Amino acid sequence: MPRRTKIVATLGPASTDPAVLSRMIAAGMDVVRLNFSHGTPREHEKQVATVRRLAGKAGRAVGVLVDLQGPKIRIGRFQGDRVSLQPGQRFILDAECELGDQARVGLDYPNLPRDVHKGDTLLLDDGAIVLTVQDVKGARIVTKVAVGGVLSNNKGINRKGGGLSAPALTGKDIEDIKLAAHLRADFLGVSFARSGEDMHQARELLQKARGSALLVAKIERAEAIRALEDIVDASDAIMVARGDLAVEVGDAAVPGLQKRMIRMSRDHNRLVITATQMMESMMNHPSPTRAEVSDVANAVLDGTDAVMLSGETAAGRYPVQTIAAMARVCEAAEEEDVPGANRLRSGVPQDVEEAIGRATMYTASSLEIKAVAAMTQSGKTVQLMSRMASPVPIYALSSITETRRRVTLFRGVYPIKFKGARDPERALHMAEDELLKRGAVKQGDFIVLTIGEPFGKAGGTNTMKIVKVGEHRKP
Ligand code: PEP
Repeated sequence: MPRRTKIVATLGPASTDPAVLSRMIAAGMDVVRLNFSHGTPREHEKQVATVRRLAGKAGRAVGVLVDLQGPKIRIGRFQGDRVSLQPGQRFILDAECELGDQARVGLDYPNLPRDVHKGDTLLLDDGAIVLTVQDVKGARIVTKVAVGGVLSNNKGINRKGGGLSAPALTGKDIEDIKLAAHLRADFLGVSFARSGEDMHQARELLQKARGSALLVAKIERAEAIRALEDIVDASDAIMVARGDLAVEVGDAAVPGLQKRMIRMSRDHNRLVITATQMMESMMNHPSPTRAEVSDVANAVLDGTDAVMLSGETAAGRYPVQTIAAMARVCEAAEEEDVPGANRLRSGVPQDVEEAIGRATMYTASSLEIKAVAAMTQSGKTVQLMSRMASPVPIYALSSITETRRRVTLFRGVYPIKFKGARDPERALHMAEDELLKRGAVKQGDFIVLTIGEPFGKAGGTNTMKIVKVGEHRKP
């Protein structure tokens, strides 16, 4: 049985070499993530072209996730690039400071002094440095260092509990949405989304730029937790962005929130990615820790569609081994019979496509069905099938390249290039041939075929058929 959980890997200096990228694809990378906090448009364009060329060569579909930088609030630069802060010392965040020193540093968000108040806790560099606000005077935030350490240029700032006013989409993000559309990105990550409205705005901008990417809301602000249902409804997928989220809500709250988010996105027929520090120690070691193995396996058992690698594949020493280890851990966790993840879910359909999707997976899971062959234009019915968490593999047959790329994120769904056929019988023969070629079925096995009729006309899937492979062919 092929691995059901998908692997998203962030690209960076450790993974730009085409030979490494090829090995990452072979090891099981399903989607690449381009972090738009780094790099130029030209570099992004080149990277996307290389990934698509290598995926084509390997006969695989690999999705592209463009991850917008978003309004990450950062300190400015230091004379000498870094300082060492001592616990108890005074340190000023000053929106008007050009070049920082031991006593003060600049800010890239001039409104920050208006957002914070005496007594607030500010976390710098993902919480490594902790400052307590003592006073706010005009453009200056006067703090006392609670937890010190080395602080270098442009590190991020969060306020414990969230509530900073920076809008989710910056001017750079708006330009980057146009670039994502131009690159035909398959997924677009909206960083620091606060509300459903942020997602509607991103969708409008993407549509205006004629992009067709699925929208991924990155849940990493405390406010996003309060607006979770609205955000899920306004998005195609969410990302449990555990790095910034832990800084805002406290690390101990994150595992419970992860479970809540995964459950909610499945219940709302949305996709979900679990991200950050999943295999962190593999930045420097060729094998994961026991805790990392458990973390990846638990995300799989929670029912995530995909697990994501960040620094491990972008800057780590073992990008290929990390993907291989993750794939191995996912496969083992998928063997467990767990409600909500690897066992068929129940529910009531809301429309025709959902009725077909559910009926297909109930049938496939109850009878001795080896595979589902779904002819699909947009991937929508396939997404609904995949929400059912059935262990029966779903093969998405599509002549549309974008559709084959977007299903790379769907748990338990495998894209197959389908050249198109004039009539349903010919389509069935071609689907059978593809499944036989992959070793997914053998002659005499039963499959479920889903299709939109009348055949060849655009429209939703409305037909489900149980077929014995090879039986209907004329001798
Ligand atoms: C995170 O914060 O966990 C995350 C995925 O976002 P980024 O890596 O863009 O900070």
